[in-house]
Amino acid sequence: MKVNVMTDILKANDLLARDIREMLSSRRIVSWNIMGSPGSGKTSVLERLIPMLPAEVKAAVVEGDLATSRDAERIAKTGVQSTQINTKGGCHLDAAMVRSALEKIDLDGLRLIFIENVGNLVCPAEFALGETGRIIVSSIAEGDDKPDKYPSMFRTAQLVLLNKIDLLAQTDFKIESFISGMKRINPKADILQVSARNGSGMPELVKWIVNRLL
Ligand code: MG
Ligand code: ZN
Repeated sequence: MKVNVMTDILKANDLLARDIREMLSSRRIVSWNIMGSPGSGKTSVLERLIPMLPAEVKAAVVEGDLATSRDAERIAKTGVQSTQINTKGGCHLDAAMVRSALEKIDLDGLRLIFIENVGNLVCPAEFALGETGRIIVSSIAEGDDKPDKYPSMFRTAQLVLLNKIDLLAQTDFKIESFISGMKRINPKADILQVSARNGSGMPELVKWIVNRLL
């Protein structure tokens, strides 16, 4: 019984997500679902990335957190539209939350929307948000075994950002172990080594994003 209820919830979510995806792509807006653990640097990567985008590429950000609007406020300082979803304890975003957040954003002229999911490596993978694709932010501080431990999340990503690469020398993180984990779980995903802190790898990320505009 419980399984059926879950299936129905996911089915309804998928239908709504499809509507959102069609609406955004009809406006030539590409949307990225940004996923990863709490503290992996999702917001920091966006703060670094957004000012580096070409001026004609207008972006907006939907921030998801259990509580507070701190991340939306951080993003607003970059000068783009941002809106906060508070899940009030919920551990993932769903398509209905994203639809109501999008009502608060002026979509005219936008080319990009980043949807920062709740920090969690488990259930956000199950909920489509109408995104074009998924980017996982994984950090050196988290350990190199995450793809093998959280396969359902890493399987769905088009891009994995290995963030906090500036800390590599201070940890036992083995980049080769992380990459071979990704090869087992999702060989098609791209992997970029970045540091939101010092900006290394960020030009490559800009290129990756710009190459995928509609
Ligand atoms: Mg955040
Ligand atoms: Zn959840």
